[in-house]
Amino acid sequence: MRWKNWWIGIAVICGVPLVMEARPASAQVIKAGPASCPAVALTYDLCPVRTASGFDRELIDFLIEHKVPTTFFMSGRWMAKHNAEVKHLLAVPFFEIGTHGEVHAHLPMHDVEEQQQEIMGPVRFLKAKYGRSTTLFRPPYGEYNDVTVDAVKALGLRFILWNIESGDPDPALSAEAIVTRVQKRLKPGSVIVLHANGKGKHTREVTEALAGHLLPDKGLTPMTVSDLLRCNQSTSAPTP
Ligand SMILES: [Zn+2]
Repeated sequence: MRWKNWWIGIAVICGVPLVMEARPASAQVIKAGPASCPAVALTYDLCPVRTASGFDRELIDFLIEHKVPTTFFMSGRWMAKHNAEVKHLLAVPFFEIGTHGEVHAHLPMHDVEEQQQEIMGPVRFLKAKYGRSTTLFRPPYGEYNDVTVDAVKALGLRFILWNIESGDPDPALSAEAIVTRVQKRLKPGSVIVLHANGKGKHTREVTEALAGHLLPDKGLTPMTVSDLLRCNQSTSAPTP
């Protein structure tokens, strides 16, 4: 630790960018888009479920009906049980698909080979079975270490986290509590994590509130993660 601090001190003196010197891996983890972009990404994880349908059909119907650009992160175990639902989501042109691990493992507990297998399982499955290439990856539970970050980069994927945790799978949270929590943190470039596997009792209500008035009230529009990351940064510049 002292050794590291010594280097940080040198970096400060020399004016070297600290983040890159002190912790290069963290620079690969994307938590938000550009703050100058008047948009946010609504993202829904499809983590495996033991019981219940594992698919929030009303939520998906709402997103389709209102043409909301959305990004889904599918786990391999979820896909294996939801062939029709995978096809349904892949067929919607304004839906973007990323992956979310094979069995929803706690990645930091595994060595590099095991982490690579967990990360690549659903990527290969989507390509082999559905012909779809995906590059966005979100770690299960949002858990990772430097090995994970290096593996994701080496595998040619992009590491997508979030900067607003809705807390939607928590049965103790009411729709109002989730909306208040999200509203407080909402700003241009935000990436919001929710769930589409039916675990969130109020996910649809919260999504309706977001798309219906919370985002428009703040001058924000929903975008897929990829569009948000390449969002034209000059869009918020004042017009002459
Ligand atoms: Zn998950």
